[in-house]
Amino acid sequence: MAKFVYDFTEGNRDLKDLLGGKGANLAEMTNLGLPVPPGFTITSEACRHYLAEGSVPEGLEREIADHLSALESAMGKKLGQADDPLLVSVRSGAKFSMPGMMETVLNIGLNDESVHGLAKQAGGNDRFAWDSYRRLIQMFGKTVQGIDGELFEHALEELKNGRQDTDLTAQELQGLVETYKGVVREQTGKDFPADPREQMRLAVMAVFDSWNAPRAILYRRQERIPADLGTAVNIVAMVFGNLGDDSGTGVAFTRDPGSGRQGIYGDYLQNAQGEDVVAGIRNTVPLQDLERIDKRSYDELLSIMETLETHYRDLCDIEFTIERGKLWMLQTRVGKRTAAAAFRIAVQLVDQGLITLDEAVTRVSGDQLAQLMFPRFSKEGDLKKITKGMNASPGAAVGKVVFTSERAVELAGQGEDVILVRRETNPDDLSGMIAARGVLTSRGGKTSHAAVVARGMGKTCVCGAEELEVSASQKRFTAPGGIEVREGDVISIDGSTGEVFLGEVPVVDSVVVEYFEGAQPDDELVKAVDRIMAHADSVRRLGVRANADNPEDSARARRFGAQGIGLCRTEHMFLGERRQLVEDLVLATSKQERQAALDALEPHQKSDFIGIFRAMEGLPVTIRLIDPPLHEFLPDLVALSVKAATGEATDKDRALLAAVKRLHEQNPMLGLRGVRLGLVIPGLFAMQVRAIAEAAREVPGARPEIMIPLVAAVQELEAVREEAVKILQATGVDALVGTMIETPRAALTAGQVAEAAEFFSFGTNDLTQMTWGFSRDDVEAAFFSRYLELGIFGVSPFETLDRDGVGRLVRIAVEEGRATRPDLKLGICGEHGGDPESVHFCHEAGLDYVSCSPFRIPVARLEAGRAVLTRNDSDTR
Ligand code: PEP
Ligand code: MG
Repeated sequence: MAKFVYDFTEGNRDLKDLLGGKGANLAEMTNLGLPVPPGFTITSEACRHYLAEGSVPEGLEREIADHLSALESAMGKKLGQADDPLLVSVRSGAKFSMPGMMETVLNIGLNDESVHGLAKQAGGNDRFAWDSYRRLIQMFGKTVQGIDGELFEHALEELKNGRQDTDLTAQELQGLVETYKGVVREQTGKDFPADPREQMRLAVMAVFDSWNAPRAILYRRQERIPADLGTAVNIVAMVFGNLGDDSGTGVAFTRDPGSGRQGIYGDYLQNAQGEDVVAGIRNTVPLQDLERIDKRSYDELLSIMETLETHYRDLCDIEFTIERGKLWMLQTRVGKRTAAAAFRIAVQLVDQGLITLDEAVTRVSGDQLAQLMFPRFSKEGDLKKITKGMNASPGAAVGKVVFTSERAVELAGQGEDVILVRRETNPDDLSGMIAARGVLTSRGGKTSHAAVVARGMGKTCVCGAEELEVSASQKRFTAPGGIEVREGDVISIDGSTGEVFLGEVPVVDSVVVEYFEGAQPDDELVKAVDRIMAHADSVRRLGVRANADNPEDSARARRFGAQGIGLCRTEHMFLGERRQLVEDLVLATSKQERQAALDALEPHQKSDFIGIFRAMEGLPVTIRLIDPPLHEFLPDLVALSVKAATGEATDKDRALLAAVKRLHEQNPMLGLRGVRLGLVIPGLFAMQVRAIAEAAREVPGARPEIMIPLVAAVQELEAVREEAVKILQATGVDALVGTMIETPRAALTAGQVAEAAEFFSFGTNDLTQMTWGFSRDDVEAAFFSRYLELGIFGVSPFETLDRDGVGRLVRIAVEEGRATRPDLKLGICGEHGGDPESVHFCHEAGLDYVSCSPFRIPVARLEAGRAVLTRNDSDTR
């Protein structure tokens, strides 16, 4: 029979799939002998069953009851017992951390009777007991019963009347409990449930349900966390940080998650419960101050942090509570970090002998590397710095100020860059944070919600800029010196330094880009990147080429590490002033006229190719013959029609109009393009091949590869190949002739196609379009967001290769192509060639290389290395 509940002593950190990150790590810490309050975990499998069937699996309630009994025996008290109650927290915890996105309910077990028992337990501390009780009703009401949290907040604020929450007396809190119970009655028509087991049962289901809360769905989509994992639920004996000044709660990192430097980083809040720290309700003190407040707990915490870092061999973040001088560990996990910290820490851990270079490569990601390639601010000129907050998540962001998430989403939807400015953010701000270029808050530390979430998303964030007075209702904030900033004003925020500037600050390239461009590595971050890239290069099997079609991009691609060009699109060579020549070609009415037009184009093509061959200095250059339909090079139909209608058209205009009408297609993507064009316009492809061959003759060592687009049948390829080979032989140039595989038919008949192709390059843009049957030009705006919402796909298939469908076609083509021609060279040149997950697919599918835009080359190199070293990539998220 399935087991749905695990005691902390039964689990371990490898059981994240089942126990979630929190449960698995609580079990790991328990087994390390660290002070973890006793408890148990309900598996994510139970959650999945509940979400699918609408009811909990058979046997779950029995298992929970058994584990609760065991917990009660261990603690020597019963859940909610009137004179000496056991209280528990019910905490969510999925496989991948989703900070603040799902629910947690504390103090389960309190009611009108047990509140007195709790006061007695706490040495007659009535204030504490009533405070705990009101927190339970507040959290339970909001998260389990779905009551608007504002109703509770409002009552609390009214009672505080400007005071700190710690100033409230026991009597006042008791009154607040009555008010809260009234809110519950009014909103639900029922009394607050007094039965502790009923409280727990409902809380467990609320945590299950919170997996599908809108903000959780949004976060998963953003972080590419699969939608079907579900969450585990942890039931943990409560320990209290709000028992007085010898109690408190805090968060800590074993290293700085911003820079990666070793040291003591964290926040502590005396006399408080965990949610107070994350919400930034009161201002925390730096963790170092705990040494003064409670030296014994501080020393113990430091020693535990060291144990954890050595055990996990990575940066850990920790949540702890001190109850009357006794330290308890409530959570640990391998901590989120900025991209720069990830590279630094990986290399530091190698130097400390804790991990190998192989592991170091798996500890960073292509997405993080891409983040480091973002521009930063140029700090020259007249900068109007208005304040400095905490450097919570690096990057340089410029945009118009907005004060609400809704406004952020609205303006971003209109194409504006916005900066979301809030006093503090909460999980409901997620959509605004995603829409904004950056986030600025006036309250909260580096562990506040804004900081944690922004860091996770790689979004620029400055938090705790306390000099700012933010008024969302008046849509403005003020800064020292009487500066007032209103909605719509532009500011610039620097997430690496915490600085905030008025107006737009110009941005410059990142040091990492400068390094890739050839600068010597001279700072710690760049040195770390250098070591990791060198190792990734030494282990990767996949080659990395560039999609580039001019000498400048080709040269940059080489500096970034490209080992050749995998796709040189030739169509741009027909634009600009050369349009005229294409018009002549289209309008030609005789063989002679057509040949004359082609002859005029040839020297231009030749000089284009010479430039690229020179830039690539003997590396292979795959040149794709012209692909788009010819009418794309002609004047616009409407413009020509207007000219004709107004009598302004010349004879040529009228001829062009007739040609445009003749060439007009309902579905140009599926029309006369690619190889079809080459077969319909005699001499077009031949001209291009001649230009390639002539150019190659002029550049010693040039290695052209000729690629035919949009082939669906081997016969198409045979026809153009024959002509191409004749030209190559006549010019004495050695070049491979191969094809794109970008139609499903080509993939399905790859065994035949390979008879006529010396290489395949998967054009996964078209292959995705044709496999799914939707237009790459039209559908993303039309319905992708709905499809993402419905979970039809987790990520756009134009971004990350669809393994099940498109991927299957690729695998078929690889297998059947190689069966025909064992030395067939295989690459990919669709946009997926620079996408981390797709690079891993290409590695697994046995391709020889990926080709991507120059700026993605470092990412592809790194991911190609990681593909060799990471067995289960998703676990390193
Ligand atoms: C492709 O289809 O994937 C491809 C690389 O060609 P293009 O994007 O030029 O159609
Ligand atoms: Mg294509």
